[in-house]
Amino acid sequence: MLLDRIDNFDIFRPKMDSSKEVLHAIATLETDISPSFPYVNAELGGWDYDQANQVLLLKLSNGKWITLHPHKIAIRGARDIEECHVLLGWIKRQINEIYDHRNHITPRYVSQAGLKIMEILKLLPMTNCKLCGYATCMAYAAALREGEISLNDCPPLGEEKFQEKREKLRAYLESYGWRALDDE
Ligand code: SF4
Repeated sequence: MLLDRIDNFDIFRPKMDSSKEVLHAIATLETDISPSFPYVNAELGGWDYDQANQVLLLKLSNGKWITLHPHKIAIRGARDIEECHVLLGWIKRQINEIYDHRNHITPRYVSQAGLKIMEILKLLPMTNCKLCGYATCMAYAAALREGEISLNDCPPLGEEKFQEKREKLRAYLESYGWRALDDE
């Protein structure tokens, strides 16, 4: 087990906007968890991975984020104290399970932040039909990059004539570790 002990866990309300009904939390660790980062990035689809500075940013649903540093886990946007503890327990389990199985995981050093909206757009039907609920294919491409929606939310992409584009788009997204936020 890589991460056995949490040395300290501070939960606080963000100072910049105390009106927000969310909590932030920081766990400090004696153990250096950075050896797990390329594997966690591969398995959980990190939003941004700064390998030089060993910072891995994970975007969760409903505006929550977890940032991993070598000796720190920062949680942003939890709704209450209980959720802070749940999220810390979840990421601790993920780090340990993924690291234990690292020999079966291909490490990934790129992340979703590298996805380019224009590259996604090129692989969409580009009819601006609005069936996805967005006014334009560009708006859909931006939401897709953020992981807020899935490929199934563009009905025309399911049509036979767009199969090749759909497969290319899927491959492009997956090469950056993309996943929809509701896949958690
Ligand atoms: S449903 Fe697909 S083709 Fe239509 S606007 Fe949305 S992304 Fe474009």
